[in-house]
Amino acid sequence: MPTYDAKAFHDDLVAHGLLIPTGPLGVFGRGPVFERVAEAFDALIVRGLKGEEVERLSFPPVMDQRIMGRTGYMDSFPTLCGSIHSFVGSERESRAISQQAGAGEPWGETLQQTDLVMSPAACYPFYPTCTGSVSANGRHVTMLGWVYRQEPSTEPTRLRSFRMRECVRVGTPEAVLAWRDEWLERGVAILGNLALPAHVSVAADPFFGRGGKMLAAGQIEQKLKFEVLIPVISLEQPTACCSFNYHQDKFGLEFDIHLPDGRTAHSACIGFGLERVVMALLKTHGFDPDGWPASVRSQLWP
Ligand code: 5GP
Ligand code: ZN
Repeated sequence: MPTYDAKAFHDDLVAHGLLIPTGPLGVFGRGPVFERVAEAFDALIVRGLKGEEVERLSFPPVMDQRIMGRTGYMDSFPTLCGSIHSFVGSERESRAISQQAGAGEPWGETLQQTDLVMSPAACYPFYPTCTGSVSANGRHVTMLGWVYRQEPSTEPTRLRSFRMRECVRVGTPEAVLAWRDEWLERGVAILGNLALPAHVSVAADPFFGRGGKMLAAGQIEQKLKFEVLIPVISLEQPTACCSFNYHQDKFGLEFDIHLPDGRTAHSACIGFGLERVVMALLKTHGFDPDGWPASVRSQLWP
C-alpha cells in the first residue's frame, strides 16, 4: 500500500529532478522527465480529439483585465488574482524603485495597474472572442494555457503557475450538456486507462467569503461542477486532476453570445491540470516512467 505525505512527495519529486524549486512557494521548474510525461499526456488528449471538429487555439498567459470584472472573478476569487503592474513615471521617480529593488524591499506602491492580468484558467480569454452570433453548431475549441492563481502552499499539487489543457463547448443548452456528460465519462476513462485510481465527484469552487458558501452550495445542488479525483498526497482528500464546469448562460449573457435562433448560448469547459496528472502518474506508478506498466507507456508513447 502506498503511503501519502505531501512533504515526503515534494522532497522525492525534487530529489529525482522532476521538480526544480525556484524559491517562491508553488513556483517550480520542471525537469526533463516531468516534461516528457506532461507533453505525452497532453498529446494523448489532443490525439483523442481527432475526428471531431475541434479548433485548436492558443492564448498567451495574460488577458484583458476587464474579463475579471465582467465574469465576477473579483467577487468570487479576489485572493487568487494575479494582477500585472508596471512602472510609469519620470526618471526622478524611478530612483525610488531602483533603490527599493536593489535593497530587496517591496516596490509595489511605486507601480501602476496595467490593462492585463494573469489568466486564471485557460478558457477565460476565449469567451469574449465569441461575442455576436455563433452558428447553430456553436463552437468547440481546445487550448493549452499557463494559468496563475495566488495560492502559495507547500503542497506540491498546489501550484501558483501551472498548465491546463482545456476543451470548451459553446452552443445550445442541449448540445452543451450532452457534450459535458460525454466528457464526464471520457475524462474518467482516459485517467482510468492509465491505471490511475480515478473517480468522479460533484465539486464546488473555492468561492470567497460568507456569500461564497451559498454559491458553492448552489453549484453542488445544481451539479454544475464535477472533478476527477486521484489520491496523490492524501487518500482521504484526493487531488482534482480534471474538472468539468457547466456555466449555463453565464458567459453567453455577459459576452452577448447568441445562437441563430436568438437564444443565448450556453457553455461548458473541461480542463486537465497537466502537472497534477503527471504527479498522479508518478505517485501511482513510480518516479521512473521507464518502469511503468507497458499498457500505460504504450498509450503515452504510442
Ligand atoms: P479549476 O478551474 O476547476 O479550479 O481547475 C481546473 C484543473 O486545474 C483542476 O482539475 C486541476 O487539475 C488543475 N488545478 C487547479 N488548481 C491547481 C493547482 O493549484 N495546482 C495545479 N498543479 N493544478 C491545479
Ligand atoms: Zn475552463
